[in-house]
Amino acid sequence: MRIANVSGRLALLAPDGTAVDVERASGGLFGADPQAVYARWGAFREWAAHADLPAGTAFAPGDLGSPAPAPRQVLAIGLNYRDHAAEAGLTAPEGVPPVFTKFPTSITGPVTEVRLPEGGHTDWEVELVAVIGTEAHRVTEGEAWRHVAGLAVGQDLSERLAQLAGPVPQFSLAKSHQGFSPVGPWLVTPDEFADPDDLELGCAINGEEVQKGRTGDLLFPLPALIARLSAVLTLLPGDLIFTGTPAGVGMGRSPQRFLVPGDELVSYVEGIGELRQTFTG
Ligand code: ZN
Repeated sequence: MRIANVSGRLALLAPDGTAVDVERASGGLFGADPQAVYARWGAFREWAAHADLPAGTAFAPGDLGSPAPAPRQVLAIGLNYRDHAAEAGLTAPEGVPPVFTKFPTSITGPVTEVRLPEGGHTDWEVELVAVIGTEAHRVTEGEAWRHVAGLAVGQDLSERLAQLAGPVPQFSLAKSHQGFSPVGPWLVTPDEFADPDDLELGCAINGEEVQKGRTGDLLFPLPALIARLSAVLTLLPGDLIFTGTPAGVGMGRSPQRFLVPGDELVSYVEGIGELRQTFTG
């Protein structure tokens, strides 16, 4: 199943790619707010599996918002691919990987224009994003997938100067500029993938591939992340987990490279879709 946020309203995507408005199709059983559906995820999946849906309507990619636009928590993971830890000149983590947040006001839909922070070094990080479907506290790796509503593509845009300046790193603030957390283009439920633990992901700038990896190479795969995070805190329905980025970020290049006005960044995850960001000064 695929759900989308079309012009701020929750929609089910039909096999032909059109969108069925959930509030109308369910006669008001489920509301229009895309974020609200996760609180009733089990009931929604049950309804969607049996509903007699009307024909959908076409939409443009620019009409899409994040499938989870206002999560209560956003957990983002650092150094979760060995090749990215190496390019950052850091040791791969053991036990619990570095965790930070991207503040929810930085979340946008999949197709956006992003203003580059003045005087900054803005970098790209394509990531698999998971949306939590049912509350998770102290769950095991074996139980973890049952708590996942679905997967989306994410970009963890990062302003490196602010991120790394000062006595301690400023990950959360430097990764939360306006428009720095595009998520989409829609949410795909785990059952749609032959193997949800091994998906290709990557991104390109102006058509030139800069990152390409596989989630099968995650040091802490999604079930391990959910087990370790939920051992500490409670993951709530609709929360996002940015799972980390593979090698190929601008900071790790020689010479370093950062986004400039006019660049177009296209990010994808196999079996989900793509994000498209253009940058202005
Ligand atoms: Zn990241």
